Amino acid sequence: MPFADIIGHERVVEIFRRSIKSGKTSHAYIFEGPAGCGRRKTALSLIQALFCSQVDDDACGVCPSCRKVAGNNHGDIHFIEPLPEKRDISIAQLRDLQRELALRPYEAPRKACIMEPADRMNLNSANSFLKTLEEPPGNALIILLTENADMLLPTIRSRCQLVRFAPLSSESVMLLLKRNGMDDTAASLLSQLANGSMQRAAELDSDALAQRHEAVIKHLATLSLDRVATVFTASEELGGNRDETLELLDILLSFARDMIHLASGCSDIINTTIRPTLEGLVSRLNLERTLQLAEDILETRRSVQRNANVKLALDHLFIKMAGAIA
Ligand SMILES: [Zn+2]
Repeated sequence: MPFADIIGHERVVEIFRRSIKSGKTSHAYIFEGPAGCGRRKTALSLIQALFCSQVDDDACGVCPSCRKVAGNNHGDIHFIEPLPEKRDISIAQLRDLQRELALRPYEAPRKACIMEPADRMNLNSANSFLKTLEEPPGNALIILLTENADMLLPTIRSRCQLVRFAPLSSESVMLLLKRNGMDDTAASLLSQLANGSMQRAAELDSDALAQRHEAVIKHLATLSLDRVATVFTASEELGGNRDETLELLDILLSFARDMIHLASGCSDIINTTIRPTLEGLVSRLNLERTLQLAEDILETRRSVQRNANVKLALDHLFIKMAGAIA
């Protein structure tokens, strides 16, 4: 994404804009800052701006080069991280990288590499990388990401320009969450709890969603027409205002979709964490009743959208569900 779209690191971005304009960018940077604050995005923006020939001090965001960087499929950008199951970035990985960087770029003016987390180079691999850092082959740009630059060897640090990233402000987190499509209430709440990290916000968000799924499943399992109170308790505790109810109905729909898959013998489902419960429900319903259930949920969703009384619509749906599951 172009610098112009970066939220929360205006000072850093301004420095990069100036150094690009004057042609004085460094060949190696250390981006230091907390996880989830936007180091990687900013690294990609810097590369995008250096690769793009349309704008002086930023990326245009629309030319083929910019689109490839944004789509994560630009052949001249190399990512280095520890291989799966490995703690360290190995000498072999860095040798491969050196070979790659020495090749002529496919289409960009130079090659670029992002290493994350750079502090996972061990003593041997870090030492093997010093020469590359000092004189990157083909004028390549190397960006090392770390949460703490002190964890890198002094010989690595001295060969790079250090750029410090502060945690995001809660306003920035809120703006970013809203830009990702989150509604105002949730974005405002999460941004207060996220400690300036989009990564933390995402974890909190999935925690909240997991709790919500658990609550829904718990009520579904107790629904019974013989004990009609279970129906009203479910609708009371799971429902809420119109938006909350629509969100609940979306969760129910995703469950129903998975149940249809399971009932038709396909094991590929979205809500994998509650697979046993969904399988249990499917064993009590046949495919026809599962399809009917999905249709009932859709119909309820349509009427809630059309301003039906939310509580009554939900009561009605849960009665049907209790009848189906019984
Ligand atoms: Zn461009």
